[in-house]
Amino acid sequence: MDITFLGTGSAYPSPNRCASSLIFRNEGECWMFDCGEGTQIQLQRSIIRAGRITKVFITHLHGDHLYGLPGFLNTISFGTIEDRDPIELYGPTGLRRYVRTSMDVSRSQLNYPLIINELQITDDMLPEDWEDWQSNYDTVEPQHPSELPGRTIAKDEHGVWNIFENDNILVQAAPLKHRVPTFGYIVTEKEQPGKLDVKRLKELGVPAGPLYGQLKKGESITTSEGAVIKPEDVLGLPRAGRKIAFLWDTCDASLAAPLLQDVDVMVHEATMENEMKEKCVLNGHSTPEMAGEFARSVGAKKLVITHFSQRYKTKDSELKGDEQTTDKLLQQAKDAFQCDNVIAAEDLLTLTIPALR
Ligand SMILES: [Zn+2]
Ligand SMILES: [Zn+2]
Repeated sequence: MDITFLGTGSAYPSPNRCASSLIFRNEGECWMFDCGEGTQIQLQRSIIRAGRITKVFITHLHGDHLYGLPGFLNTISFGTIEDRDPIELYGPTGLRRYVRTSMDVSRSQLNYPLIINELQITDDMLPEDWEDWQSNYDTVEPQHPSELPGRTIAKDEHGVWNIFENDNILVQAAPLKHRVPTFGYIVTEKEQPGKLDVKRLKELGVPAGPLYGQLKKGESITTSEGAVIKPEDVLGLPRAGRKIAFLWDTCDASLAAPLLQDVDVMVHEATMENEMKEKCVLNGHSTPEMAGEFARSVGAKKLVITHFSQRYKTKDSELKGDEQTTDKLLQQAKDAFQCDNVIAAEDLLTLTIPALR
């Protein structure tokens, strides 16, 4: 399981930092979270094979998290082999309108199936100036010729959007406070079965293959000699699943807190240093102190700050005048988290998330 940061800058892409995007990989799955302008270039610079990406999760419809999506969807089409898996998109109400309009007016053909799932925004997610914008989020019809029907995912009775689940992983979302309706995504790995005792299985005469898989799934098997073997005879202790959260953009993520208890890795935005808090919060963003305090409040084990103002240069930059790197932000986040287990993300950084014991 790992995360690769493609873009760690806020507002716009620059030679210094690309706009927001990251890749989450686990057990052959390769998912993108946000797709700011320039993401395609970063993908080519990274270790990620773009054609492997099957899901894209969009936190909100601000351009620095979204403008890379039409280009990415088109480029994937160039190299697509027949019968590839669909690409599934997930994002707030309005995503369908944005993707269909940009694909339609640019006459973009896609040679793979596209599924657009919307997370239904609720009235309490709308900012105060919402009326002034007169945003039209109505779905555009018809759908794109390559589209398969998507889902509209509503909030459940616990205030959670349950997005996706397979044998291995659960993806949920919760609303974050920002200037437009925004979701934070929480990826929870399910408890993993313990390791098979291969030596013992050999002694019992069980050949490697599908029977191993059945035992790992918790099913008893019968050997060719008629002996019944239960999973507990040959499986070690189960391993706890990992929990990762992707929280940007926000000046208050507290509505997501119930889903974040003991999160193993919290990726949280920290756009500007503590001294600029007033401006930062006015723009719907967090300082390192806010990110650190929030991570601490939910018992996060590791904090990764990202979405830096373009004023903060990369570590290897030649600084001119009063320019600075993210070192100050990193220290401020550590102070508030009261723990050194904090990283300031950089473009193309890959962070491995080791299995829990
Ligand atoms: Zn942003
Ligand atoms: Zn934003």
